Amino acid sequence: MDSTEFREFGKAAVDFIADYFDTIRDRDVLPSIKPGYLRPLVQSEVPQQGEKWQDILKDMDRVILPGITHWHSPNFHAYYPTANSYPAIVGEMMSAGLGVVGFNWIASPACTELEVVMMDWLGKLLELPKEFLNESEGPGGGVIQGSASEATLIGLLAAKERVVRRLMAGNSNMTESEIKGKLVAYSSDQSNSSVEKAGLIGSMIMRLLPSDDKGRLTGKILTEAIEKDKKSGLIPCYVIATLGTTPTCAFDDLQELGTICNEGDIWMHVDAAYAGAAFTCPEYRYLMKGVEMAESFNFNPHKWLLVNFDCSALWVKNAKYLVEAFNVERIYLQHKHTGVAPDYLHWQIPLGRKFRSLKIWFTMRTYGVEGIQKHIRGHIELAKYFESLVKQDERFEVTTSSLGLVCFRLHGDNNLTQLLHDKLNNNKKIFTVPCKFRNKFVIRFVITSRLTEHSDIDFAWKEITSLTEQIVSSPCLSKQKISHIQEMNSCEKVNGRVEKSK
Ligand SMILES: *Cc1c(COP(=O)(O)O)cnc(C)c1O
Repeated sequence: MDSTEFREFGKAAVDFIADYFDTIRDRDVLPSIKPGYLRPLVQSEVPQQGEKWQDILKDMDRVILPGITHWHSPNFHAYYPTANSYPAIVGEMMSAGLGVVGFNWIASPACTELEVVMMDWLGKLLELPKEFLNESEGPGGGVIQGSASEATLIGLLAAKERVVRRLMAGNSNMTESEIKGKLVAYSSDQSNSSVEKAGLIGSMIMRLLPSDDKGRLTGKILTEAIEKDKKSGLIPCYVIATLGTTPTCAFDDLQELGTICNEGDIWMHVDAAYAGAAFTCPEYRYLMKGVEMAESFNFNPHKWLLVNFDCSALWVKNAKYLVEAFNVERIYLQHKHTGVAPDYLHWQIPLGRKFRSLKIWFTMRTYGVEGIQKHIRGHIELAKYFESLVKQDERFEVTTSSLGLVCFRLHGDNNLTQLLHDKLNNNKKIFTVPCKFRNKFVIRFVITSRLTEHSDIDFAWKEITSLTEQIVSSPCLSKQKISHIQEMNSCEKVNGRVEKSK
């Protein structure tokens, strides 16, 4: 393909994406295909002769779109958002176009230097403590990671390195591997699955401590666990506090947990993957009170801040611990500016890295602080609107509501809400995922798309209530319908409960 053809192909691809977004509301949010649908639609091997770009682009409609779950549909209310915006898409295109790998400064000075500045832009946008910024005097700084999962693991590895060095420098008579075998990390039972995974990969005991009735890890529970471990000769090393848990968007109290960590020389990492974006608005910053006691802080612009995946922002108070944990100097990696600008390869797990700061730069400049705040506040307002609709209907209860996430259920038996949830996803008009919170089966309803408007919330609520009618009005649920609900023992019970709450 030459540059003339690339111009045509590229422009046609941009048109394709723009058309996709212009018509996304007309599509069912969930696809209607079966597992294995794709293989028969594509050649079984690399084609012998190259094909025309027109034919390749056509196959996006034939092969790919039927199998897409439309994450940016205004009717997508599952998981948490994955960010998307036009300037970020163009930033991604530029990154692919330049195609550099910026592991150290000389590997592309602009790649390192724009990232240094963009991490400061984001840090200031969230009003993080100055020690975290690259421009500050001290050893702190920010770096872009691929995901919050990696950030949690990196914090764990750096915390491990810090403890080992401290104990080895003191007069501990333990060997390095003896110390490493005794380290313990703590988080709550509401933390993201990636936290448990970090413990597995980083070979550190990970205690998922019970959360309170609001889904928070309390200082009392953490202190008890730490004291117990110390008594049995273990070494507390790492605490992951969550701001905006995945099930219900609950917030751990950083002041409480941070005080315990600082007194016990324990590394506190803050996982604010989703909720961190809300700190762009001053009215939500009270939720991160105590953040100055953290050693590392992470949030995902690729979730709620309009910057396409992958873009996870990690700040540390002292980058020395990262560099010590990951530095494997090789002569071919050295260059004459070593030490002046951060060589980000020592701040991450892989060697190679994309030019991800371009998409932050394009997005922040296009939206500005005002545009970003409008986006966040708009989503929270839509969630509040949805909450008000649920609360007006006495068949339902709102179990929790926080930022852009509302968790709700039908009064009565868990089976009812589970049945409603199954019906919603079978119907494919809106997409939600459930969770179990304090033994209640609840449906999580998240505002995710930048296209969602009040009328889309009305549409979702109409869908929810009309499917609820089907459950409530059926005189007796057919065997077939409820066959997957094992615990359900009689249809009288189902109808009885609903009648009572009507
Ligand atoms: C989504 C989420 C994660 C995982 O994010 P990735 O970037 O996909 O690794 C971690 N923690 C919390 C609280 C999340 O909501």
